[in-house]
Formats: sequence, structure tokens, C-alpha cells
Amino acid sequence: MSDLQGKHGLIVGVANKRSIAWSIAQAASRAGAMLALTYQGERLEENVRELGTTLSPSPLILPCDVTSDEQIAELGAAVEREFGGLDFLLHAVAFASREALQAPYVQTSRAAFREALDISAYSLVALSREVAPLMSARGGGSILTLTYLGSQRVFPNYNVMGVAKAALEASVRYLASDLGPQNIRVNAISAGPIKTLAASGISGFSNILQLYRERAPLRRNIEAAEVADAAIFLLGPRGCAITAEVLTVDAGFQAMGM
Ligand code: NAP
Repeated sequence: MSDLQGKHGLIVGVANKRSIAWSIAQAASRAGAMLALTYQGERLEENVRELGTTLSPSPLILPCDVTSDEQIAELGAAVEREFGGLDFLLHAVAFASREALQAPYVQTSRAAFREALDISAYSLVALSREVAPLMSARGGGSILTLTYLGSQRVFPNYNVMGVAKAALEASVRYLASDLGPQNIRVNAISAGPIKTLAASGISGFSNILQLYRERAPLRRNIEAAEVADAAIFLLGPRGCAITAEVLTVDAGFQAMGM
């Protein structure tokens, strides 16, 4: 595959080798893209740097805590300085406090609600605003985020994260409308459950995995590499007429009534 040959991409959300963002980074690199990867805080810097050494060409490694407007602005400036523009952005970031993922949703505090929506949904708006001029400089671009069916249906313990994903999916549509005239596309992939660091915060996650294996038409769970295949399609030129879309990659689970 060389769909992304000569393209520059920014990948936000690599924590470790299990991260969906890491699978997408590997696939994008194989497809020919030059990447910038971000890490959140010093705790994860070494991880991301180490992973980065396995990509060729070597990616830029830059800090970005998405709760900081200053760091987002510095990220945009660094990408502009190094790449001169940007062709695609992957947003693969989500967070909710442990309490918010354990207590019933009705107990969600104002602070936990704000934090989850800020990190998991508003960050797409802030990052899109930052990179839009860099994409315009290239004649357009593609922005992709990751969501989950908990935005539309109730899953035990997904709680405020489901509400944040609903806001994220609505943001995809509004951003697509705002940025479409600049030939910037904005889409989401709604992925089936995959065991990652973020997923380990949802108690009963292995029950969700099992449910998918039993009920999904394909009778199996999905892999991060399969999300990456769909991501390369949406990030690259083959997805050029697709925007404001939520593409489901879940072995068909979402179609089932029982
Ligand atoms: P992951 O590897 O834990 O990735 C989540 C990323 O979000 C981590 O890199 C995390 O960094 C980052 N993050 C959290 N707060 C941040 C902040 N303030 N600033 C910058 N980054 C921050 O888990 P993942 O499952 O691959 O998640 C990636 C995306 O896929 C998320 O949006 C998730 O909701 C979505 N998704 C996952 C599944 C699944 O089953 N795994 C299914 C559908 C959609 P820290 O580790 O430092 O917090």
C-alpha cells in the first residue's frame, strides 16, 4: 500500500504498543506517510520515543496534553516548522475518571463530566482548529477520530464516556460542515472493543468482548490492525468523497437487535 506516499500526518493518542493509534501509525508509515507522534506527559515520552524508533522514516516526537491550549498551539507551530503543512490528523484520545466509570451514571460529578468531555470531545475541536490552516496550505486534508457504540446505546460502566462519544460524533458533523469548504474531511471510526490501556479502565470489559464474540455476525472480536486498515482508507485519497461519517468497524455487532 502506498496511499499516503509523500503525506505528512499527526497522530495524537499513542500510549503503548496496544494503542489503536499505534496500529494506525504503523499502517500509515507503511503506506508512505511521514509522521509526528505525540505523548501526554513525561511518563509516556520514553514509550512513544521507543516505538517511534521502529518506524521508517523516523517520526517527530512531540508533547501534547490536549487539556492545554498552549501545548496544542506549540504542537501546531512545531508541525508547521518541520512539515510546512499537514495532510492528516488522527485523534485517538479519551479519558474519564475511574469513579465516573464505576458509579452509576446518575452519580457523575460536574468535575468528572467536564473532564471527560474536555479530553475526549472538545480536544477534537481544539486540534482541528489548530491544524486546519496547515491542511488548507496543502489544498485540504483528512481528520479522523475514534468513537464507540456507547455513544448511542447503554453499556455497563461506559457511563460519561458514552456521553462524551455522543458529543464527539456530533462534533465530527459540525467540524465537517465548517471545514468542508477548505477540502478538509472529518470522520470517525466506531471501533468494536479492543483490549488497550483505556479499555482497562472499564470494569467488566472482558464481558463486553465476550458478548461481541457471541453476537456479532462475524462471531469474533476485531483487532487494532483492522481499524488501521479502515483508517488508512479514510485518511487517504480513496476516501476523498467521504466526510461527516461514522464508519463502524465492529464485525457487525451494531446491526444486531439481540
Ligand atoms: P489507549 O492506548 O489508552 O489510548 C488513549 C490515549 O488517550 C492515550 O494515549 C492517553 O494517554 C490519551 N490521553 C488521555 N488523556 C489525555 C490528555 N489529556 N492529553 C493527551 N492524551 C491523552 O487506548 P485506545 O483504546 O487505543 O484509545 C484510543 C481511542 O480509541 C480512544 O478515543 C478510545 O475511546 C477509542 N476507542 C477504543 C476502543 C477500545 O475498545 N479500546 C473502542 C472504540 C473506541 P494516557 O495513557 O497518558 O492517559
